[in-house]
Amino acid sequence: MNKRMVLENLRAYYRQLKGTTEYLVKAVDGVNLEIYEGDILGLVGESGCGKSTLAKTLMMDLTPPLQYMGGKLQIISRDGTVFEITQFKGKDQVKRTLWGRHIAYVPQDALNALMPTIKIKKIAYDVLRSNESGITFQEAVKKAKERLTELDLPDYVTELYPFQLSGGMRQRAVLAMATLLNPEILIVDEPTSALDVTTQKIVLKSLIKLRKLELVDSIVFITHDISTVRQIANRIAVMYAGKIVETGPTESIIKEPLHPYTKALIESVASIEPEGKEKGISYIPGQPPNLINPPTGCRFHPRCPYAMEICRREEPELIKIDETQVACWLYKGGRENV
Ligand code: SF4
Ligand code: MG
Repeated sequence: MNKRMVLENLRAYYRQLKGTTEYLVKAVDGVNLEIYEGDILGLVGESGCGKSTLAKTLMMDLTPPLQYMGGKLQIISRDGTVFEITQFKGKDQVKRTLWGRHIAYVPQDALNALMPTIKIKKIAYDVLRSNESGITFQEAVKKAKERLTELDLPDYVTELYPFQLSGGMRQRAVLAMATLLNPEILIVDEPTSALDVTTQKIVLKSLIKLRKLELVDSIVFITHDISTVRQIANRIAVMYAGKIVETGPTESIIKEPLHPYTKALIESVASIEPEGKEKGISYIPGQPPNLINPPTGCRFHPRCPYAMEICRREEPELIKIDETQVACWLYKGGRENV
């Protein structure tokens, strides 16, 4: 499997000033993860666990008070070029070299991301022209129409303003514009959470199409809703308090979760039955920790029903068990310990 992105001990903190004291909010704190060609990777976790901050960090879209603190971040392009993103000189260089071409990001508020007073065709022209200065307006519109059609949107959408599109159409138009340059990696943050169930399905289908048609190599799909992830992702990464605590193939994570937090996430979804009631994960007892002063050892220990003495003292590292990686002291000696 070809790697498309490698993260090693990646850290990004918010610097907060209260009075004269400075606090560091450790939102991304030692993330280890590999993203492969062909992946639709579901990044799941409760709100406030650092998912959106991780997305910004992957883009190196860091503005104060958010700051890169250390670790490795690589993009490996289709032609084998390795971009060491943390070695770039500032956000501008990352933007010029990578954004849109190699990595694209559709933020959580994407429905409002398109300028309402600019027609889709002009947006497409601006995106394409940034990569190929000689492209004509007609050529750009033709490419935009092709991409819209690939995502099952009518091609006259190019003639419309974003405000004329329904939520679902606008979300797909955002995806079309973000992927015009066929980046290797597409990151989408909660792309369906503002949509009704039927529209959600259409947007998920568009994402799957982007992958199947090989218009992008890998998708990182961020959500707090593990049941959505199940419909789309081939792999899942579970994030808790700024760290990845478990990754593996979707089916094994769902059917046989190893980390107690992953188990709790899945059970909390399964236990919420009645239609219409929001499927959430706030039903895990306790609260996610304050990331200014996270718990020692395993950050989940104050909420974990299996916590042991060592869990309070020492931080567990990710270890490999079959195709899964898990960071939990229960598995120190392999699966048999549980
Ligand atoms: Fe629970 Fe300990 Fe595993 Fe953390 S390391 S999840 S506290 S058993
Ligand atoms: Mg978020």
